[in-house]
This record gives sequence, structure tokens and C-alpha cells, in this order.
Amino acid sequence: MQLSPAVSSLKPSATIAAAAKAKALKAQGVKVYDFTLGEPDFDTPAHIQQAAIAAMQAGHTHYTPSGGIPELKQAICAAYEREHGFTYKPNQCLVSNGAKHSLHNAITALCGPGDEVLIPAPFWVSYEALVELAGARATVIPTTEESGFRLSPADLERHIGPRTRMLLLNSPSNPTGATYSTAQLEELARVTEKHKLWVCSDEIYDKLLYTGEKFRSWTTLLGGIPERSVIVNGVSKAYAMTGWRIGWTLAPVELTAAMDNLQSQQTSNPCSVSQHAAMAAVSGSQQCVADMLVEFTKRRRYTLDRVARLPKVSMPEPGGAFYAFFNVSRHFGQALPNGKVYRDSTEFCTGLLEEAHVALVSGDAFGAPGYVRLSFATSLANLEAGFDRIEKFLKG
Ligand code: PMP
Ligand code: GLU
Repeated sequence: MQLSPAVSSLKPSATIAAAAKAKALKAQGVKVYDFTLGEPDFDTPAHIQQAAIAAMQAGHTHYTPSGGIPELKQAICAAYEREHGFTYKPNQCLVSNGAKHSLHNAITALCGPGDEVLIPAPFWVSYEALVELAGARATVIPTTEESGFRLSPADLERHIGPRTRMLLLNSPSNPTGATYSTAQLEELARVTEKHKLWVCSDEIYDKLLYTGEKFRSWTTLLGGIPERSVIVNGVSKAYAMTGWRIGWTLAPVELTAAMDNLQSQQTSNPCSVSQHAAMAAVSGSQQCVADMLVEFTKRRRYTLDRVARLPKVSMPEPGGAFYAFFNVSRHFGQALPNGKVYRDSTEFCTGLLEEAHVALVSGDAFGAPGYVRLSFATSLANLEAGFDRIEKFLKG
């Protein structure tokens, strides 16, 4: 079939594809230890579910304004002010169908043919595809395990050219969990400000931090840089609301209006009931976030200990999010205890799934060959059984 050039070259989201492969094996009756998707295993907190039920019963089951209901925009701005001490107005807020949609809006509204978008690697799987869908070019900036997978100001500056339009930054990072200190962020911000670059700061993991350091939102750097900043966030990760599909941007008024136009033509509005649920999430008690963080902290500790015990594997400590991103390349090209030889991360993940029934995502999808990603947003019992299998796969 003749498909459009943009769509025919598009690959499916590698995380979603890896999860589908694990599910297919499960459907055959195999017990699979699935660490593919970055999705909390917790139920959405009860008070948020109740808000959705109340919204349905109150008749909030119709179209809403395309960019979201005013009360939710107000609540998002109030939460941002409470958490970061910076004031956005509701006309600078756009609510969308998940943070992925927010990213798509921001990239499409700002970038087109001839523009370059800088993406530090390892990067989240959808960034490159979203840039290419907008007709722009993704320029990948590699970072190293030794630097904790952090972009340095010198590397950033070296990659800026006349067509560079935007930097896509994600801290805490999916897949590495890397975080930046305020000082490190400000050094990067000095470079982006000097070159008048837009920065799209994906802050979806802002509440999942383990190092004791306070999260610093991009807009608040250098005394406030809202003119060329787009903050992306949402309820999926912090409130265990992946299925509700609510994300948002905080951005200049003119850009917000442009993204609203785009969204009104593409999707009308985000789900009305989910918007009411999201309002309860951002403006209600934040105890549920703290409770889930306690669990994630235990899982992270367990994961770090188990990764440290794996032979010939290395990993910088993830400071945030819920992923372990470790280097398995020292196992390539030599027979593992099962007698098989794997040459890269993708073969390694396929072997691990087929032989040990453990599902991870290959680092190849994140622009980081030699690595694999494990999501620890799952129970300790699952992690224990999964790591036992990974250990056996490597040690015999
Ligand atoms: N950004 C990052 C870094 C992510 O990991 C994800 C999904 N896990 C998203 C954005 C999108 O989140 P959602 O669309 O579920 O809000
Ligand atoms: N973002 C999550 C992940 O990295 C969910 C899947 C996706 O949207 O790609 O696993």
C-alpha cells in the first residue's frame, strides 16, 4: 500500500512494541517478568477516581473547550506556583491527551522543515519520531555513562548551528534516571539563552526524585526564562494515571494559542471526565504521591543492589524516574551460559525474553547501543523473581 512518506518511515514506539511482545508471550500461557513499560502498577488514588465518578454524574460528559476546562488550567497554574514559586496564567496553559500529545503540539507548533532539534542521548523513544513527524531534523548529542548521562554545556554549544531551533531536555530522564543540579541546569540555560534557543523541558518525572535534591523547573532558572521555554508535564507518572491521558504545557501565550488551534483541529479536547480527575490530582492532597514515592524508593534500592550483583554490568545511579539503564555490552560477542552469543542489546533482549522470560527494552531504541532499560515501577516480588532470572541468564 502506498502510504505517505512521513508515516511509512515511522516505527512504532519501541517501549510499546516491547510490551506487546511480552504480552504476546504471556497470551501463550508463559509466565513473563515484564519490566518494559514505564507505568506505575498502583491503582489511581481513590479520591481521584471519586472525582471522575462525581464529574460523570454531574453531567461533565460533553465536549470541553479544546485546550481544557478553565478550572483545570487554573489548578495547574496554582500547583506550579506552589511548587516552583513562578506564576503562569491560565492562557499560558494547554491541557492535552497526555504529555506525549503535549510534546507533539509543542514540537509541531515551533519546528518545521529546515529546523534542527537537539536531543541528548540516551533519549526517550518518541522524541526523534515526533521531531521527524513535524518535518524537522533531530540532532542527537551523545552523553556518556561516565558523566552520569548528563549533557555538558560545552557539548551543547558545539552542536548548535544556524538552523538549531530547540533543545529537548528531560530531567529526570527516561531512560537513564539522570537528573541535573540547579547549577548544571543554569550552565545549560546560559548557552540556550545566548543562542536564543527554545527549550522544551519534559518534566513528567519531577515528583519522582530519590537524592534529596529539590526539583528545579526550567522556566525558573536564571531569575526566570519563560520567553522561550515550554514546560511539559502530566498526571501519568506521579499520580498513577497513565490510562486517563492528561498532560499539559506551560508556555508563552502566543505559542499556547497556536497549539490550541492545532489541537482543536486534531482532537477537539482532552477527555472531559479525565480533566476533572486531573483537577483532583493536582489540587488535592499530595499524600498519595508521597506514599507511592516511598514504594518506588524501596524498589529503586532493591534494583540498584541487584544490578550491582550482575556480572560485567555497569550503571550510573538513577537519581529520579523509575528506570534502571544498564550497560550489558561486555557480554556481547561471547557465549553466555546458555551457549548463545549476542551481538547487541536488541539480540540480548530477544534472548532474555525467549530463554528467561524476562522483558526489558533495548537501549538501541533510546539511542544508546549496549544498554538495556528495566522499569522498576512494579512489585518487589516481581523484581526479585525477574532479577533471579537475569542473574541466571548471565551467570548460569
Ligand atoms: N515524556 C516521557 C519522558 C515519558 O517517559 C512519557 C511516558 N512514559 C511521556 C513523556 C508521556 O507520558 P503520557 O503521554 O503518558 O502523559
Ligand atoms: N513512556 C513510557 C515508557 O517509556 C510508556 C510507553 C510510551 O509511551 O512509550 O515506557
